[in-house]
Amino acid sequence: MKIISSIQELRDALSIYRKEGKTIGLVPTMGALHSGHASLIDASVSKTDVTVVSVFVNPIQFGKNEDLDKYPRCLDKDAELAEAHGASFIFAPSAQEMYPDGEPETFVRNKPLENQYCGAYRPGHFRGVLTVVAKLFLITLPDFAFFGEKDYQQVFLIEQMVKTLNFPVQIVRCPIIREESGLALSSRNAYLSEEERQNALSIYKGLLAAKAAFAKGERSETKLRNLVIQSILLQRGTVQYVEIVSAKTLEKQVGHLHDEKLVVLVASFFGKTRLIDNMELT
Ligand code: AMP
Repeated sequence: MKIISSIQELRDALSIYRKEGKTIGLVPTMGALHSGHASLIDASVSKTDVTVVSVFVNPIQFGKNEDLDKYPRCLDKDAELAEAHGASFIFAPSAQEMYPDGEPETFVRNKPLENQYCGAYRPGHFRGVLTVVAKLFLITLPDFAFFGEKDYQQVFLIEQMVKTLNFPVQIVRCPIIREESGLALSSRNAYLSEEERQNALSIYKGLLAAKAAFAKGERSETKLRNLVIQSILLQRGTVQYVEIVSAKTLEKQVGHLHDEKLVVLVASFFGKTRLIDNMELT
């Protein structure tokens, strides 16, 4: 496995494989790799000939008061994990390499959805995500790109971007990987104290309670959301939002729920750490 930090060097290396007819898989990450990321790498390695794992803490998707500076960075460990899972390249560019002129003036945006759910609390986040993913697609020209459903709104917006802008790449969604306890794996879990980590299990428990109630016939959006909210509040978490959305359109569902594919999206804080999670109801 090779670690590359230059865009041109990566392009040159991949063009050789492309000429040989090899397929390329891209796994975009911000590093601090864990088993959730590893599952994406595994999916890419089994579906494509050459897997590129990008490791880039993208400054333009962080707000002013967010954790850009303290976001965990550990490229050596990431390289070990990526290599053990069969990746061919790590692409780890500097911010200067990706944005030589500083904050860009050209962005990819999704007007209706970029300010909803996570976007409502993280202004500029999704335009930063879509812009860097578009750049990574154009740099890597992958046949397949792998994203986790842990970031449900993110993978939805990326699928829309690919469709709207005709990127010649197939998006592969990968299921959420959880600890045995049920806590969704996240690089940000490293910020949690032991007590906060225990309390954060209430997110998964609340989601399971909503799913079980739905299975028993509960169709009140308010009651189902409240099951998740109460579960989190009881363990001293703070709820940022809990919404039930259509998996097909990501539109917020209110009142009496209809039998279509529905997903509960959650963002909450335990201490200062913001955690997101989601679960399909059906
Ligand atoms: P990040 O490094 O947090 O930006 O995540 C990079 C990719 O890994 C995204 O597509 C995430 O959705 C995915 N990912 C992160 N955590 C998990 C998880 N627990 N299960 C599955 N995919 C995940």
